[in-house]
Amino acid sequence: MSLHNRYGILFTAVLGVMFVIMLKADVFADLTETSVIEFTEAEEAWLSAHPVLKSPTTTQSELLPIYTHDEHGKYVGLGVDIVEIIADKLGIKIEWVDYTTHITAVQALIDRDVDFISFIGENMPGEGTRYILSSFFQQFPSTLVVPKSVTGTVTLDSLYGKRLAAVYYWPEAEYLKENFPDIDIVEVESPQEALQKVAFGEVDACVLILPVAAYEIQAGGITTLRIGGRLNRVFRQGFGIRSDWPELVGLINKALASMTEQEKAELYNKWVPVTVSDGGEYKKWLYRIGVASLVFFIVLCGVAFWNRKLRQANLAERAARAEARRKAEEALEAKLKMEKAVEEELALRKKQVRFIDMISHECRTPVAVLQTNLDIMQLKNSDNPDFAEKNVENMQYAITRLTELLDSGLDKVQSESGNICVSNQLFCLRNCVQEAVEHIRMLWPDRVIEFVSVRDSINMDGDQQLIKTALLNLMENGLKYSPPQEKVDVFLKQEVGNAVITITDRGIGISEDEQRRVFEKYYRSDRGVETGGTGVGLFLVKRTVELHGGSIEIDSDIGKDTVITLILPCRRNS
Ligand code: ADP
Repeated sequence: MSLHNRYGILFTAVLGVMFVIMLKADVFADLTETSVIEFTEAEEAWLSAHPVLKSPTTTQSELLPIYTHDEHGKYVGLGVDIVEIIADKLGIKIEWVDYTTHITAVQALIDRDVDFISFIGENMPGEGTRYILSSFFQQFPSTLVVPKSVTGTVTLDSLYGKRLAAVYYWPEAEYLKENFPDIDIVEVESPQEALQKVAFGEVDACVLILPVAAYEIQAGGITTLRIGGRLNRVFRQGFGIRSDWPELVGLINKALASMTEQEKAELYNKWVPVTVSDGGEYKKWLYRIGVASLVFFIVLCGVAFWNRKLRQANLAERAARAEARRKAEEALEAKLKMEKAVEEELALRKKQVRFIDMISHECRTPVAVLQTNLDIMQLKNSDNPDFAEKNVENMQYAITRLTELLDSGLDKVQSESGNICVSNQLFCLRNCVQEAVEHIRMLWPDRVIEFVSVRDSINMDGDQQLIKTALLNLMENGLKYSPPQEKVDVFLKQEVGNAVITITDRGIGISEDEQRRVFEKYYRSDRGVETGGTGVGLFLVKRTVELHGGSIEIDSDIGKDTVITLILPCRRNS
């Protein structure tokens, strides 16, 4: 094997590997799109008027792989596929008309019984006058087929004085007769006959176009023949079109021009097997094609990878922009969150300020009472003991009220830091409720608070002072949010391991909506705002009850009785 041949095979192999890799990597994705044909109005009109065109088949002469019949008798081959591709591009249908041989089919074209034939070589008799040839879409080298026993490169010079078969209506026959008078040209009817003559030794060689020779030898399994050389000529192929339809020539030329290289290669590779021959011109030809293709593919690779790089750069830029947008959104979200937190903090501060206002407002009244009564005492010089006693009594009430407010304020401060101190001692809940009732009666002397307990003593463990403060809050609410003539009922009972205390008033009531919020710190309903209050009472009551393992429930609605129920764990049978 010569150096050239080795390089040829090497390059072809490299080419194949590169091609497969590139196909796998999808690098041709941008390069393989089929171009769209733009038809003129006249062309559109012509196509609409001729939706079906006739093309011939040949039932007897087979020109493999251009026209042949498959095992089901279907007419197939390069020539059939190219017609269907063109029909598809033009948007027309094909009516296949059967003829016996290629010659009769060409005659039908000349007689305008069919509209066009796919494979007609250049310089065939009648071209330009009896039919029109389209632009060329394929070109095949003419090869010399010899018996395998003939070694080395076969040239026309080496066939001087020898017999060479050629198909009589192919231009090759005429060309050889004119230019090589020393070769004995034997004209035959078909490529098959030419090959047969070589195989049987009736001639020394035959001349055939490459795909036909390759197909017959490789696919047809003729093992005794080989492609030994080639002529310095190519045989260009086009469509033969009936002579009175130049419009169809233009349309077929447009359709052929729109075929991509890839489409053409796919079509060729589908039908023409790869040929391998022992040395000679043909291999040189393969070698040159290999080198040219390699250069072409290197350029193609460059373009494809450049495209890919551009695409990657685009993607990277898009990703960077998306990342920047995401960061900006995150920053905005963080800013909004901060603003919301600041707003909430401000709202809380406002509530706290209101709370302190309330406390001072609540303190002001009892202090004023003290002041007034002391003034009166001074004025009256306290001569009248009855009068002084009444004033002292008023002052005592006022001081008690003030003390309570201060106590509850202290609790609130403690609770703010989550720091309620709970002492744990055994005490009698009944007595505790009784004390709270008496206390509240003292603070609200004009109101009626009724207390009923079903048991004399109910013992529980916990912080008596805290429980008492919670009860005072609830009773005071009952009084605050109901009219002066209405009484407040306090009821105590025991159910298994729990003490149940209910405080009922007949006041403005608490709506369902409000019930969900009254235990929030600083919450005050819009209704009854004229009543003094801080909005922390129920918050503290709930916390106190929960610290003792109990629960609190509200049963009320606007304008209805409000029943607050405290359930506190207690000692059994106490
Ligand atoms: P306040 O100091 O405002 O009374 P609370 O925490 O004790 O604070 O009560 C919260 C809110 O619940 C009150 O502002 C009031 O709107 C409503 N509320 C509490 N108890 C009653 C009740 N017995 N009847 C009607 N509304 C009540």
